[in-house]
Amino acid sequence: MQDGEVQGLAFCGETFAPRSVSIIIQRGIISEITEITKPITQWIVPTFFNAHTHIADTVAMDTPIAGRLLADLVAPQNGLKHQILRKTPDDLLVIAMRESMRFMQATGTVAFADFREGGAHGVGLLNQAKIPGIFPVIFGREGGEFFADGLGLSSAKNPVVDLAAVKRARTAGKRIAIHAGETGIKDIEDAFSLDPDVIIHATCFENRHIREAADRNIPLVLCPRSNWMLGGTVRAARPPVRKMIDAGCTLWLGTDNVMFVAPDMFAECAFLTTIYKTTPQETLAMATGGFALFGHHGTIDVGEPANLIRLDPGYVQEWTQSPELSLVSRIGSRAVRSVSASGSWYDSAGNSYPFFKGE
Ligand SMILES: [Zn+2]
Repeated sequence: MQDGEVQGLAFCGETFAPRSVSIIIQRGIISEITEITKPITQWIVPTFFNAHTHIADTVAMDTPIAGRLLADLVAPQNGLKHQILRKTPDDLLVIAMRESMRFMQATGTVAFADFREGGAHGVGLLNQAKIPGIFPVIFGREGGEFFADGLGLSSAKNPVVDLAAVKRARTAGKRIAIHAGETGIKDIEDAFSLDPDVIIHATCFENRHIREAADRNIPLVLCPRSNWMLGGTVRAARPPVRKMIDAGCTLWLGTDNVMFVAPDMFAECAFLTTIYKTTPQETLAMATGGFALFGHHGTIDVGEPANLIRLDPGYVQEWTQSPELSLVSRIGSRAVRSVSASGSWYDSAGNSYPFFKGE
């Protein structure tokens, strides 16, 4: 844990309002934010929480899928992805997961919630793949949940959920996450009946489901690029993002299977903004909201961990009329200079270095 200072145009607080500031960091925590008048040479952005991934899919990256149904591709146990995972040696799985973690870190993500298949062994491989400065929340299955943070269920319908297993996970204090409403409404009510801590997709949610998620304060993780890629939606009304926001739902953002979608949260934010017309504040709240799983806000505020992205805004700094809008729709991950997680900066190659005064 290092002390230090970083200066620039920072997107502060829950409104992500850009302010020209100096941020003081002590023991990995933001201890002070003060206004400065120096010319701006960099932007400072809260790091992202990618709220839904399957990073082991890296080994099946961009397998051609034209004309194939979702169930045929990803459903347990014989979907194409599971066949590929089963025949991939452990050492290659570990390398592939580590490389996706490096990619995520280099593109501004320092934490992610991963659905890890393959039972306790699968969870062990992800733990083996970990690198400093990026923190997975692991949802295991088939017994893997007892060695992980929670139980990640593929669906309430396929395969049929083992209710006793859900109860055992709950008793062991594990979180329950489940895919629901990805391609239809059939599995939604059963998913709610499991009293999940997180619902993934919610693409086909109708008004009553939106109301229930809002009233029960169950976070919904939206994965818009995955939904478009895999046929979950063909129109901007699905998932019903605006209705969900208006109803007061807690919404987080995820990139889903690395097999089909790069785990780049800048790209996910730009897609969300373009298709669903979310405001920059709404988009950034969704891209950082998953830090609640660690008990943090994920914002640039005094008392929060110093999880920051240093960006080179390039010529955008000179011309933009809305830094917030440029941040979510234009800048892109190529502008990332370095990323910090609590105590150290990490450059794009994953090398760490301490905070410096006046960085
Ligand atoms: Zn998924």
